[in-house]
Amino acid sequence: MLIKNQIYEAVITDYTAEGQGVAHIEGCAVFIPNAIAGERVRVRIEKAQKTWAAGKIVELLEKSPHRVNRECPVAKLCGGCDFWHMDYEEECRLKSERVRACLNRIGGEALEKVPIIAAPSCYGYRNKAQYPVAVKKGRAYAGFYRAGTHDVVENPRCRILPEESDAVKNAIIDYVNQFRVSVYDETTGKGLLRHIYVRRGAVSGQILVCLVVNGQSLPKVEALISRLKAISGFTTLVLSVNTKKGNTVLGDKFVTLCGPGYIEDTLCGLNFRLSPRSFYQVNHDQAERLYRAAIDQAGITKRDTVLDLYCGVGTITLAMAGAAGKVIGVEVIPQAVEDAKDNARRNGIENAEFFCGDAGQAALELEKSGVHPDVVVVDPPRKGLSADTIEALHRMAPRRIVYVSCDPATLARDVALLKQHGYELKTAQAADLFPRCAHVETVALLGRKQVGDYLHIAVNTEDLETDVGRIYTNDDIKQYIEEKYGFKVHSAYIGQVREKLGIREHENYHDSHTSPRKPCVCPEEKKAAILDALKHFGLISKRGETL
Ligand code: SAH
Repeated sequence: MLIKNQIYEAVITDYTAEGQGVAHIEGCAVFIPNAIAGERVRVRIEKAQKTWAAGKIVELLEKSPHRVNRECPVAKLCGGCDFWHMDYEEECRLKSERVRACLNRIGGEALEKVPIIAAPSCYGYRNKAQYPVAVKKGRAYAGFYRAGTHDVVENPRCRILPEESDAVKNAIIDYVNQFRVSVYDETTGKGLLRHIYVRRGAVSGQILVCLVVNGQSLPKVEALISRLKAISGFTTLVLSVNTKKGNTVLGDKFVTLCGPGYIEDTLCGLNFRLSPRSFYQVNHDQAERLYRAAIDQAGITKRDTVLDLYCGVGTITLAMAGAAGKVIGVEVIPQAVEDAKDNARRNGIENAEFFCGDAGQAALELEKSGVHPDVVVVDPPRKGLSADTIEALHRMAPRRIVYVSCDPATLARDVALLKQHGYELKTAQAADLFPRCAHVETVALLGRKQVGDYLHIAVNTEDLETDVGRIYTNDDIKQYIEEKYGFKVHSAYIGQVREKLGIREHENYHDSHTSPRKPCVCPEEKKAAILDALKHFGLISKRGETL
């Protein structure tokens, strides 16, 4: 065990999920903030446990070429960002490496590299800020919590927020100080103003201000509104009533004091309505890139039904609607579902349906009611997919699962679980939606494993035609495959797959094309496409059994 307060020499080899450096000293993992991989440091041990310790750099013996001067004056104190001490190149490297390490270690993959969609800018990207309010020497101020505490660190100009956000914060603090509005104190539970919440549409420039109060109203609202109206883009002011103790920022009750109570913004060419509680990615431009990657990976055709679990206000669902036959979104927050329905209407999208409920339970019910999506998108919170959701995915057996993740560790766990249900990881791509902060997003594509590996075939050819109701020809199958996969399949290959499945050949089932003279074996890729087409036309069930 390392000794507290003692100084050791160490080399930083890795990073924690929170972005701290990791060194190994005498077999013990030591977590060191503000350290960069490759650096040799002298470190003072501040906390020592049997297998791990925490320390602070007292001297940099060998500096990383990626070390830079911090642009943000409060970076060392403020818990908002993690990486102002390193260049962006190293930040991207460590993020993609984290995704790769999780997928390999937890997910059982053997990936050599995971590409990352880097952000073109690290500045002013965050379209939402939640400033806690505090008092120092009788004056109110707002900022962000110091890491691991509820001490509020003031930052006159936060680099990752747009200027308008700080302008709103300053106007509100002026109002609070002028009218002596009381500030909430966590220890006593007394005082009115708790948080200043600002959301700004990156494209629309519209600003929603939400003040979280430990009470039912605010004094001198008119004076506040007139100050806010001086800020370009200000659209609406909402009061959120939160009289409960604890860390939850927003309360359950919202009162609109000025404007419509929501703002609008454009994402992926669509218009979205956003209220204070709606989930909306904080980095607009990177969210567009992430969603585009998800849409590309989904490989949707006009015949497909897409199920978007954890859909929020329907951003991904609606962005996919144009390419799909039908899209279905599921989300647990009723207000977000209302927003999603409204978003479909305001964009004239008619092939979208939204359900409010738990993703796993709703998916199981949809499956029971006969919904068999071709593609399922999941974008869960950090805890990842529930057992119900995994079970529903297993039963629905979609062709593809596009997994948008905000936590590589739970993504990797779920990839391992989905592999037990006949899926395999096809691609994984990291995306940096939070420059200068440790979080990383990933979009992963899972597809059904090669047919021979998992298909359990029970043949019952008697029911075939009656169940289907219509005889599909090889031309239907070929057209479907060409549209969806972009390649042609020969009738002989369809014949081979049918034969293997024991599906009786109907005379209408022939097409006009001649068979190849020499019998050749259907390639695996085409076999999978044919099976998919047979499933699509109801000639075999989604789980591979013939009907
Ligand atoms: N795909 C959306 C939202 C992703 S955030 C987007 O990119 O904008 C995750 C969403 O899952 C949130 O809207 C959250 O409210 C919702 N959620 C959390 N737990 C859920 C559950 N058990 N079932 C359904 N939705 C859930």
